[in-house]
Amino acid sequence: MLYHAELGAEERSLAQERFASGEVRVAVTTSAFGMGVDIPTVRQVIHAGLPLSLEEYYQQAGRAGRDGLPAVCVVVHTGADRRLPEFFIETAHPDAATVGAVHRSLVEEGYDPGAWSRVVHRDAFVRALSDRAGDAARELLRDAGVIEGGVATPMPAHLLPVDHGRVAAHRRAATARFGRLLDYLAGRRCRHRDVVEYFGEKASAVDCGSGCDVCTGAAAPVGPALDPTPVRQALSAVARLRGRVGVVKLAKVLVGSQSRELGGASGIPTFGALRGWREPDVVELLRRLTDAGALQVGNDRYPTVDITPRGVEAMRGDVQLEIADPRAEGPPRAARAAAVDEELDAEAQALFGRLRRWRTETARERNYSPFVVFPDRTLVELARRRPTTNDELLAVPGVGKGKKDMYGEAVLAIIAASLETP
Ligand SMILES: [Zn+2]
Repeated sequence: MLYHAELGAEERSLAQERFASGEVRVAVTTSAFGMGVDIPTVRQVIHAGLPLSLEEYYQQAGRAGRDGLPAVCVVVHTGADRRLPEFFIETAHPDAATVGAVHRSLVEEGYDPGAWSRVVHRDAFVRALSDRAGDAARELLRDAGVIEGGVATPMPAHLLPVDHGRVAAHRRAATARFGRLLDYLAGRRCRHRDVVEYFGEKASAVDCGSGCDVCTGAAAPVGPALDPTPVRQALSAVARLRGRVGVVKLAKVLVGSQSRELGGASGIPTFGALRGWREPDVVELLRRLTDAGALQVGNDRYPTVDITPRGVEAMRGDVQLEIADPRAEGPPRAARAAAVDEELDAEAQALFGRLRRWRTETARERNYSPFVVFPDRTLVELARRRPTTNDELLAVPGVGKGKKDMYGEAVLAIIAASLETP
């Protein structure tokens, strides 16, 4: 089922009804879907791209699991997904030059056009503005009383009664909120705890223990966080060479490569700052800095790297970025899974197989993803430790009180049966 702004009102409410009634089970929608509608049995919310803030994410993710049963929220994103929220933030808070140009253009038009895009503005700068930026500037002028009854009052740009300082402060606040969301996604702290703390309830914040990808160990393996020095050195190298070189060349500069193609780039103070690193690890570091919003990579055929305002803050030490050390990476996930198989003896493997079949059935009955019931890692631990009491069960990583209450009896029965079989 599809749901988006271009559907008619009737089609939209029909789509919503079909989903609410359970007739269709998957809705592919824009974030407007489900606003103000309580559908308690939503089991998964999968985000494509990035929300603007943790508030927004929490509101959208909060549509899952309103019946109090387990639900999954996933955000699928890459570094490139940052462009859209950044564009929204920028265009929603136009600067003085934009507001001045829009005002001039409206005075020349002699009236306040209805839809921005329907007007051919004579001013090239204004023509190049997005609808969003034009509308935001017009809104500011209206709020300031410069546009009244659809007519813009002529006056010099520097006398426009628009508080540009306030607009800039709002833009900085929006950028900071977005940065906090990126930290949340890149972070390796319990997701539940992080959200609770964000909304100011530090005292009641505890790790959920078994309800998020971090606590269950399902999150991508990461090394320990890098200390700030190499991070700042890498950022400083980018700042020196702003937009002139790509990732590979930057990596060469940072490791102090003797390659001749570096030319003048080898003269910067941070040349060789990461001597001893492997070039691919430096490339990975730069990629992580991009994901963290500190760097941006251009769209050209030979994309160059530039530093973002957030990167400048991190370089100065005003904010601390938590970047996992790419050199300390464990073996890839498939290799880890194989290692787990080797850890289990034949009996434990057989038990693991039984537990997995039980998990598949349970997940199907309840309409969950299997890993909501228990992640593989927990099943492996159950098979290895073979707990026989509730206390032993609770000692297994990934089994919290909620899971024990829900699945404990079934799991203990399967384990007991496996101990009886000769
Ligand atoms: Zn957690």
